[in-house]
Amino acid sequence: MDNKKERLRSLYKVDEALRDECLIFFKENLPYSLVADCVRTEISLLRDAIINGEDCPPALTDRRLFFQQVIRRIKRNSAPSLQRVINATGTTLHTNLGRSPLSQNAAERVVETACSYSTLEYNITKGKRGSRQDHVESLICRVTGAEAAFVVNNNAAATMLVLASIANNRQVIVSRGELVEIGGSFRIPDIMELSGAVLKEVGATNKTRLSDYAHAIDDENTAALMKIHTSNYHIVGFTEDVSLCQLKELGTEYSLPVIYDIGSGLLTDLKTYGISEPTVPDAVKAGADVILFSGDKLLGGPQAGIIIGKKAYIEPMKNHPLARVVRIDKMTLCALEALFFEYQDIEKATQKIPVLQTLTSSPDILHDRAIRLKKQLPDMTPFHIEIEPCEDCVGGGSAPDAHLAGYALTLHSDNLSAEQIENLFRKNNPPIISHIRQDKVWLHMRTIMERDIKDIAASISHLKGP
Ligand SMILES: *Cc1c(COP(=O)(O)O)cnc(C)c1O
Repeated sequence: MDNKKERLRSLYKVDEALRDECLIFFKENLPYSLVADCVRTEISLLRDAIINGEDCPPALTDRRLFFQQVIRRIKRNSAPSLQRVINATGTTLHTNLGRSPLSQNAAERVVETACSYSTLEYNITKGKRGSRQDHVESLICRVTGAEAAFVVNNNAAATMLVLASIANNRQVIVSRGELVEIGGSFRIPDIMELSGAVLKEVGATNKTRLSDYAHAIDDENTAALMKIHTSNYHIVGFTEDVSLCQLKELGTEYSLPVIYDIGSGLLTDLKTYGISEPTVPDAVKAGADVILFSGDKLLGGPQAGIIIGKKAYIEPMKNHPLARVVRIDKMTLCALEALFFEYQDIEKATQKIPVLQTLTSSPDILHDRAIRLKKQLPDMTPFHIEIEPCEDCVGGGSAPDAHLAGYALTLHSDNLSAEQIENLFRKNNPPIISHIRQDKVWLHMRTIMERDIKDIAASISHLKGP
């Protein structure tokens, strides 16, 4: 008992510990309360151990060890929650991992303008107020071939604004085969309803004909015909749907606009790479009056919703009260400008925009990457490591049936399960997100960036047991 009391008396005092010189750096660079909380927590852990009658904790008598534990806690608690990870899943547009990474150039432009005042809503030539949309509208029009453009927060916001602006309290005709759920409780029909549009479903899940749309048109009440790209599923078998061109012909006949939610916003054809998704320029050529798509799917930019189309429909959206609700932020806008600037040269863009670079990487390139990674590993590791062919996917609810041929580094070990290895990778700094298949851990080369290679090599060199 005495022993206990004595030990409790010998506990570090919070104030005293906080004055220790090994914490000076942290007190200067981090919130004081964070450092103080870590000191308090470590002391109270020691106190609990003493009270519970455990063996004398080493940190009670070893000052260096105590501060090592405090500092470890400070580092853990001050690490950002939203942080870089290494995507070794082979899924290019991984929704949980932030969809598309920005290009170096776009990221630099964001940093430059975010840290200073900018021309966000200022027209330098006239010395007057300008519109934030002016920075991207003409660029987007040039790249897509559209007459007008308007950018918002994401494609869900774009859907909302487009429908509120064109179809308030009036009917929008949509095929039953296209009532998409994107995920994360986002269903197109729900958004349509929220916008104030009245959803008029036509056809059946597997078949919708042009006559179905035609019969549903009501001269008084119909505001638009809408086509939604079924991004994340394909209906196969006994099916029929109406092409954008056919729908446009019907729209023209009845003077109704055709709205096309194309989902991913692919600007260049990727069929030669095994990815069959409709492209935005084709949709413009087919005559769609309004087209909407995401910024961070196959377009490869920041989270955004891009609305393009005929001036007559886009202009009123700019002054709609909802436009302010879904207004795009300056950092996003800056990244979008840089992105569309690069798209003016589609060949170069494919080299520079990470998503396109990743999706168009040949198996040879991925095999080389695997060899380079393997060469950086020490001769002796506790793992059996091999280079094996694998299949990668596009992800982000795009091209669900595209299987891209790739290569992976696979690991397994005699004394660690695949789950344990996967778990150790996930706890690495930076975290490495991998796949488990056939009792092995797979590191898919497609989504591993150049700078990730040395981090993965370091991680594998240091991985030990549990
Ligand atoms: C992904 C997707 C959306 C939602 O886009 P966000 O940018 O995630 O809001 C809407 N419609 C379609 C067809 C999609 O594929």
